[in-house]
Amino acid sequence: MPREQRRKSGDDWYRYALALEASQEGFWDWDLVADRLWCSKRWRSITGLEHDGAGLSAWMERVHPHDKPRFEAELRAARVGKTKAIRNEHRIRHEDGAWRWVLARGVVGEDAKGQVTHLAGSLTDHTASRLADPLTGLPNRLFLVDYLERRLERGRQRGDWDFAVLALALDRFERVNETLGSSAGDRLLMEAAERLQAMLPEGSVAARLNGAEFLVCLDAVRTEAEPVRLAGELMAAFREPLAWRGHRITARLAIGAAKADATCCHPEELMSDAENALTHAKQDEPPGVVFYSRGMREKALERLEMEADLERAIRSGELTLFYQPEVDLHTNRIIGFEALVRWRHPRRGLLAPAEFIPLAEETGLILPLGDWGMAEACRQMVAWQKSGHAELEGARMSVNLSARQFERADLVERVRQVLEETGVGPGRLRLEVTESSLIADAASALRTMRALSELGVGLHMDDFGVGYSSLNYLQQYPFDTLKIDRSFVQGMVRDRESWQIVKTILDLARSLGMDVVAEGIEDLEQLEELKRMGCPCGQGYYFARPMEPATIDVLVRSGGWQSGQAVPAMA
Ligand code: C2E
Ligand code: MG
Ligand code: MG
Repeated sequence: MPREQRRKSGDDWYRYALALEASQEGFWDWDLVADRLWCSKRWRSITGLEHDGAGLSAWMERVHPHDKPRFEAELRAARVGKTKAIRNEHRIRHEDGAWRWVLARGVVGEDAKGQVTHLAGSLTDHTASRLADPLTGLPNRLFLVDYLERRLERGRQRGDWDFAVLALALDRFERVNETLGSSAGDRLLMEAAERLQAMLPEGSVAARLNGAEFLVCLDAVRTEAEPVRLAGELMAAFREPLAWRGHRITARLAIGAAKADATCCHPEELMSDAENALTHAKQDEPPGVVFYSRGMREKALERLEMEADLERAIRSGELTLFYQPEVDLHTNRIIGFEALVRWRHPRRGLLAPAEFIPLAEETGLILPLGDWGMAEACRQMVAWQKSGHAELEGARMSVNLSARQFERADLVERVRQVLEETGVGPGRLRLEVTESSLIADAASALRTMRALSELGVGLHMDDFGVGYSSLNYLQQYPFDTLKIDRSFVQGMVRDRESWQIVKTILDLARSLGMDVVAEGIEDLEQLEELKRMGCPCGQGYYFARPMEPATIDVLVRSGGWQSGQAVPAMA
């Protein structure tokens, strides 16, 4: 009906018609008796369907298979009079091939006898809000999955696999959030999104995932060199700091890349390949760009499995502590033990810390693991104190702390609790930290160290010499012992530089009034040289490998240590 004509009629219908047109909603009316679906022009543009006179099936055919059962159930309930209205969000395949998110709302219409004859209502296009990340305005993961699905389809049809997926992560994002607050974190993400979009070549699509991760689909990529070059440019662009309320925030970018090929079936595969590569890229220092390689997926699966296994292992007692004696080099007497964790894996046998500590650190499982380890080592010490054996009674116990444990706010309280619960005197416990624990947050590390020292707990700087070995740390922090890293001890007999480093550390410790333990003494030559240089204490395979407590008991009781002779190294 022409507008002028309707206006003349001057009734409510006209007002309704205008309001509906302005609302951007699509309208539909399903005549249940005749099974005919009437749809407004806007409905047709949302769905892309030409629809005059068709039945409801034309709509249903386009609904995403995942969403269809619920939508059908709602329609059925309304149709048989169980409900008076429907409200259903679902995806519908547009004529152009893309999925659109729509919200369908409807109410039932009844005839004079109360029979349901119509179901009519509106259809709203939610695609933009469903598929966009509200903070950065970039598309979200859902959108990218859909996009990649279509890109893969094109690959299959035309044999065109010239595209790649990049996974990008900003480091320091969490720290920015923690230290400057989430609005600084948000600002960083928005800025990152802008830089990213500005630099991507035409035809690429960027999406934001959770946190500070982004995914990009790059088109027209024929070789690995192209995404690597782009990744390099992106990383360079991100070196420029962002100014925020007087702070200069620098976040670095790590990038994982995966190129599509004819074996790719699902978007998730490509995305997880790129994300696996990203995990590797993040481990580089500074973070870099890594291309997905075969084998990464297997490794990632193995890791997932390990993670679940480790969680169980901590709860079910598969972890155990071995103890390696620390020895007075001049008397050969045991002065203490270092507790070293092992995992009795049900399938893989006895695992060394290098095989699971990094995973425990990444996943946060190091916290329960560390709690358990400290308590267990203290329990063992109490058992030795009561053993009635002079060699064990006076021994002290060294426990390794990882950086993650060191960062936690309640560490001091936990140590205090363990001491109280097990009845170990604080002077008997030594905590070993490496320099990397101090670097993360120097001010809070200093507070923690001072509080631990006030408790009376000893503090060892582990692996000394391999990190920054800043004299500043030694002066500021209340360390009482330096442990010379075993690489120098093992090199010192043959290589002048290592010898010089050992010498310097010994001099340094002497002038600062600190104890020294040389790690990794493997043979008599090393031992003799260390003694000549005045090194007071050491540990190493020459004396004993890390052992189970029962083995140590047997060894001590059989007189192996009282003889004052070095015992043969034990497995
Ligand atoms: P670390 O604290 O420096 O411990 C010394 C490592 O050197 C131990 O390796 C020990 O078995 C090894 N070692 C001792 N003497 C010799 C020797 O003569 N020759 C050689 N080649 N190696 C020797 P392990 O037990 O494999 O532990 C490796 C690292 O794992 C430890 O280094 C420590 O950083 C970490 N770690 C071990 N247990 C724990 C734990 O309970 N918690 C935490 N956070 N880290 C732990
Ligand atoms: Mg240690
Ligand atoms: Mg060490």
